[in-house]
Amino acid sequence: TQELHIIGGGMAGSEAAWQAANAGIKVVIHEMRPKVETFAHRTGNLAEMVCSNSFRSDDNEQNAVGLLHWEMRQANGIIMQMAAKHRLPAGGALAVDRDPFAESVTAALMAHENISVSYEELTELPDEGHWIIATGPLTSAALGQAIAKETGAESLAFFDAIAPIVYFDSVNMDIAWMQSRYDKGETEEERTAYLNCPMTKDQYQAFIDALLAADKTEFHEGETAGYFDGCLPIEVMSERGRETLRFGPMKPVGLTNANDPENKPYAVVQLRRDNALGTLFNIVGFQTKMKYGAQKEVFRMIPGLENAEFARLGGIHRNTFLNSPTLLDNQMRLKSRPNIRFAGQVTGVEGYVESAAMGLLAGRLAAAEIQGRVIPDVPHTTAMGALVTHITGGADAKTFQPMNVNFGLFPPLDGIRGGRKGRKERYKGYTDRAKEDFAQWLEAQT
Ligand code: FAD
Repeated sequence: TQELHIIGGGMAGSEAAWQAANAGIKVVIHEMRPKVETFAHRTGNLAEMVCSNSFRSDDNEQNAVGLLHWEMRQANGIIMQMAAKHRLPAGGALAVDRDPFAESVTAALMAHENISVSYEELTELPDEGHWIIATGPLTSAALGQAIAKETGAESLAFFDAIAPIVYFDSVNMDIAWMQSRYDKGETEEERTAYLNCPMTKDQYQAFIDALLAADKTEFHEGETAGYFDGCLPIEVMSERGRETLRFGPMKPVGLTNANDPENKPYAVVQLRRDNALGTLFNIVGFQTKMKYGAQKEVFRMIPGLENAEFARLGGIHRNTFLNSPTLLDNQMRLKSRPNIRFAGQVTGVEGYVESAAMGLLAGRLAAAEIQGRVIPDVPHTTAMGALVTHITGGADAKTFQPMNVNFGLFPPLDGIRGGRKGRKERYKGYTDRAKEDFAQWLEAQT
């Protein structure tokens, strides 16, 4: 049939439905709430915001998420449209009155002549027809199992373990140096794949004290979580013994400080390249449940990271997500079953806005495919394009963890060099370029 079926009427599913319906496609949304509940949702509304009521920064010149807002508005996104209608004063952030917001998204979708909603939990992968799965971080258990059966259990995660990610250009290279442990690797690039930050004994002791004292977040009620071996929060590791980290992720072996070869560091923090562009590095083994403010303070105690800027901070949450770099093609289709697209947080993006943006894209791509049209790839230079390129290819599949939109995902600009001084100009350069390219991409679809 020429209908599009969407499983999950959250941020992504709602936006995907709106986009496809506006392109003239009949859409059925299959939503399990209110019949089947999650620990985080409270209502039966579509597009319910489960926690904060903010879509984050609305600054489309200096902020990547604000740019994503802009792009979604240009593409007639329903989430941004209703957010504007129910906006609350919140400085530079786009905060909304959550219940009227979700109610108005629900009403707009229900009123659309091309959209119908079927309130049911789907538990199997569909064999035929056109589908988008947008079941989010709390995908129901039965469907999660069906997905894992198709992808292999190792390719579907049920918790994330996010280590903080730092912008390379904010690292102090007078202190940090590039080297893989024991200089391992076939190529020079591999032998220098890690950034290393050295610590003296005193610095290490002060760091452990700060970790132990820092404010931590708790798991939500109902978010039953055991920690898994191999992804214990660093603060939990340090609670097990002050030396645990020095024999774990911070072990100083196999490394020589290029900036001070005579002095052997007492401990070393390693950062691993996080994207193909080399603009982002994650702090290896530093998944944490420290509060965001505390993370910045504690991680800036690491020599070389005293001025670090974070593309994202660490966290551990209940979160069902695919290993998208291996499983999805650049049209967001499941390679093994191309009649199924995935969208939203389940693809390994993080946040309401990012999820809705991936829904917007998936809805347009699915509609075009049904109608036999071809949509050019969304340019990598736009926020939407940077994000989808990251999850479907740019990210390292072996260490893939959910990602927020940020300027580190954008191809560098010619002519405007890095460094802290040029940041404002650089971000303006990114957003100007993105707006132009996004407008052209939309134009090509009319
Ligand atoms: P959702 O919005 O969760 O939508 C998925 C939908 O699929 C749900 O309506 C669900 O009921 C439905 N569904 C699931 N399984 C099935 C099935 N088998 N059949 C039919 N329907 C199904 N992001 C932020 O930006 N800010 C925050 O403050 C924030 N806080 C969060 C707090 C918690 C506890 C969680 C879990 C996530 C939080 N997130 C936050 C992330 C946020 O959930 C997502 O960013 C966003 O809601 C994801 O959109 P989505 O459409 O992918 O999933």
